[in-house]
Amino acid sequence: MLVERFALNPIGTNTYVIATENKDAFILDPCATDMTPVLTYVQTHQLSVVAVINTHCHFDHVMGNEVIREALGVPLWLHSVELPGLLEAPSMAEQWLGVRIETRAPDRFLQDGEVLDLGDPHDAVSLQVMLTPGHSPGGLCFYDAQAGVLFSGDTLFAGTVGRTDLKGSNSQDLVSSLRDKLWPLPDHTIVYPGHEDETTIGEERMVNPYFHF
Ligand SMILES: [Zn+2]
Ligand SMILES: [Zn+2]
Repeated sequence: MLVERFALNPIGTNTYVIATENKDAFILDPCATDMTPVLTYVQTHQLSVVAVINTHCHFDHVMGNEVIREALGVPLWLHSVELPGLLEAPSMAEQWLGVRIETRAPDRFLQDGEVLDLGDPHDAVSLQVMLTPGHSPGGLCFYDAQAGVLFSGDTLFAGTVGRTDLKGSNSQDLVSSLRDKLWPLPDHTIVYPGHEDETTIGEERMVNPYFHF
């Protein structure tokens, strides 16, 4: 698995391009209205993008959804419970960053436990969809056991966890998601969060005061 991170907006949200050696790719959380660096990367590496996927639909994670969809003609996949968030994203983007964005309906809803296979061989990248509500009601993490990689969205960060004081947040749900879904993962798992730098499950087990059970 090849992972490239792009932090493209003023609040440090990460977009990830997740690709196989044979150049099939997902784009996770397009985070800006100007997605030129990601599109240039896709073109330079001649990637074949299969879909845009969202960990959740806070405006900073979906701002570039339509830019990517229009440029590459690819579908959008996310969890159905995030739809109200997607509808609200344009007014939030206007309010917080003063930018106009467009959102459109997704092409497919992702289900807890399903596996998104990418590439040739068919499972060169295998992302298991984990429903991890708490920060947002339909928040997802994506886990590849073979690669030992977790895309944690805004559920788990280096040294902290996602906010639960937002509309649709639930602190009890966040604790359950962290304890039941992420805590059992192996120490060596590399965590690529929705903001800031990568970490590992083992590191967070040692240093993160909110990741303690
Ligand atoms: Zn968020
Ligand atoms: Zn965020």
